[in-house]
Amino acid sequence: MSHVFSRALGRALPVVDRAEGALIWDTQGRRYIDGSGGAIVVGIGHGRTEVAEAVAGQAGRVAYAHGTAFTSEPLEQYASELAPLLPMDDARVYPVSGGSEAVETALKLARAYHLARGEGSRTVVIGRRSSYHGNTLGALDASGREPLRRPYEPWLGRAVHVSPAYEYRCPFPGHPVGCGRVLADQLDEAITNAGPDTVACFIAEPVSGATLGAAVPSDDYWPAIREVCDRHGVLLIADEVMTGFGRTGAWFGCDQWEVRPDILTAGKGTSSGYWPLGLAVCSGDVYETVASSGFTHGFTYSHSVVGAAAGLSVLEILRRENLVEASRTKGERLRKELTAAVGDHPHVGDIRGLGLMVGVELVSDRGSKRALPRSDALTERVLAAAKERGLLLYSSTGFVDGVDGDLIMFGPPFVISDEQIDEAVAVTAEAVAAALP
Ligand code: PLP
Repeated sequence: MSHVFSRALGRALPVVDRAEGALIWDTQGRRYIDGSGGAIVVGIGHGRTEVAEAVAGQAGRVAYAHGTAFTSEPLEQYASELAPLLPMDDARVYPVSGGSEAVETALKLARAYHLARGEGSRTVVIGRRSSYHGNTLGALDASGREPLRRPYEPWLGRAVHVSPAYEYRCPFPGHPVGCGRVLADQLDEAITNAGPDTVACFIAEPVSGATLGAAVPSDDYWPAIREVCDRHGVLLIADEVMTGFGRTGAWFGCDQWEVRPDILTAGKGTSSGYWPLGLAVCSGDVYETVASSGFTHGFTYSHSVVGAAAGLSVLEILRRENLVEASRTKGERLRKELTAAVGDHPHVGDIRGLGLMVGVELVSDRGSKRALPRSDALTERVLAAAKERGLLLYSSTGFVDGVDGDLIMFGPPFVISDEQIDEAVAVTAEAVAAALP
């Protein structure tokens, strides 16, 4: 009997042995293509001894020094190398242990900013339906992912939610023209309804990730959202936990539309899985304002010196090997190959994404775009069929109406080879055919 409280209750899991590049092996010697970099985490690829050595070297020198007692050379260097890459002026970096902690930090920062400005009435967080910002309670409340919220709903309910940018199921008559403006008008209305002097921030993923599977907004969306936030003095938080560090083929998802958020969160690709590292980042303007009156916050493991060493080493590899550009070109190839292989399948509704963040939405028929009943467990069957054939994928369910909705997601390491992409696509076609004969 295992004493591990498993993440996969009721499912026996293989035992992982080793990994390299875009491949993982289990202790039975089975090889898998890591088609999703775990949970869309691994950008630089597995098995980078350079990062392992940076982590070990730093842990050997000093593993822990409290963030209120010391700063460190790796942390100072990491923040100063990262700052010019971030889509904001004079960025300040607050390192934490993962995406949910980064989002909690960002929400508190927004509140601290308004308090410092004497606008204590600004408490309301506006998020989007079908979004995901993390599983801690503040981040979950900002999230609009119903299946994850449902059991904890009695503890939630302070955040307000507006429509996501979900082009495949866009309900607006003018679509695809002007969807961004209509969605921004909805945000405007939500702010007005809540009372403009009560709204602290709007949080959204630049490209919807874990719930809507790489749903890319129309080009007019982000500029219109930025304008609405500015008009109401509402801080814009870009949750780049999935999209950051090259995943969409640009350093940050915001770069795709040249939008400049006030606060940005990162995680996942920040350390590519080599260390639990998330970041909450704010503009110099937000920092100066908050610093004037203080920020009541912090975690035991924030500002980790080893985390900074890991992040720095990952950043160096991303730059040296041009991996952000690789994410862009390989993502184009992956979408093209997927479209050729399964694009005409009667149950494949949409293939979408940017860079190596790609989603395939499965439907009961393409004309009506109707979702399959959740009881069919289609996503689970496709994932199992792919895994049986040596391909690991990510997924989302329940996003169409809170219950139904099936999609599979690709987010492999940026070092995946063309041959591995072709193999992953071929296996996907087989898995879809096996699950949907
Ligand atoms: N924000 C976004 C956009 C995410 O995709 C995720 C995780 O999928 C999170 C936050 C939460 O990150 P973590 O699981 O590291 O807490």
